[in-house]
Amino acid sequence: VMFGKVKVCNLTAVPERCANECNVVLLGATGSGKSALIVKFLTKRFISEYDPRLEDIYASEEIVDQQPVVVRVMDTYDQDGPVNTERYLTWASAFIVVYSIDNQDSFKVCHKYLDTLSVHNKTFKSHIPIVLLGNKLDMERYRQVSKSDGEELASRFGCLFHEISACMDFQDVQQIFHDVVRRTRRE
Ligand code: GDP
Ligand code: MG
Repeated sequence: VMFGKVKVCNLTAVPERCANECNVVLLGATGSGKSALIVKFLTKRFISEYDPRLEDIYASEEIVDQQPVVVRVMDTYDQDGPVNTERYLTWASAFIVVYSIDNQDSFKVCHKYLDTLSVHNKTFKSHIPIVLLGNKLDMERYRQVSKSDGEELASRFGCLFHEISACMDFQDVQQIFHDVVRRTRRE
């Protein structure tokens, strides 16, 4: 158990996809800020140093539009982009694909993930919502990926798009996760 209110779930216990549960998987290049975003969402705090190889599932009881929901979040670590993808493809009810706006390479990695996810969605005729998320908005001065490049990639794959910073406003980070829950309710 890593954080106060957070339970760590068992990977093998695949839950029913019912209305009051939502499984969110974060994907993206190492260093893009997946763990920082998850820790922020769960604890309202920004943790700057975090073991990059950590792969785990956390759960939080949330209220979204007056309805309680257990949001499970899977933090992932892929050394070389989308490999061994079954572990999250079969589990997810939503994906957040993260890059860092100050790192062009991390944006390219997102492209690979979106390819993989769209093939999966087509193959299984599923409509798992995907959010493309440009993180580290506080690093505007060092921006390498324009907002329009992000928007363009997102629209090409039919996903939502946001820019955010894991070290700034908690509410903005929470909003992303709650939006994702709303999307899965609509599917
Ligand atoms: P992960 O490999 O995708 O899980 O990335 P981490 O969450 O471990 O973050 C990688 C590095 O980026 C760490 O040094 C974090 O402190 C830093 N980081 C994460 N999010 C932000 C952010 O929004 N802004 C800034 N400036 N740094 C961030
Ligand atoms: Mg990490």
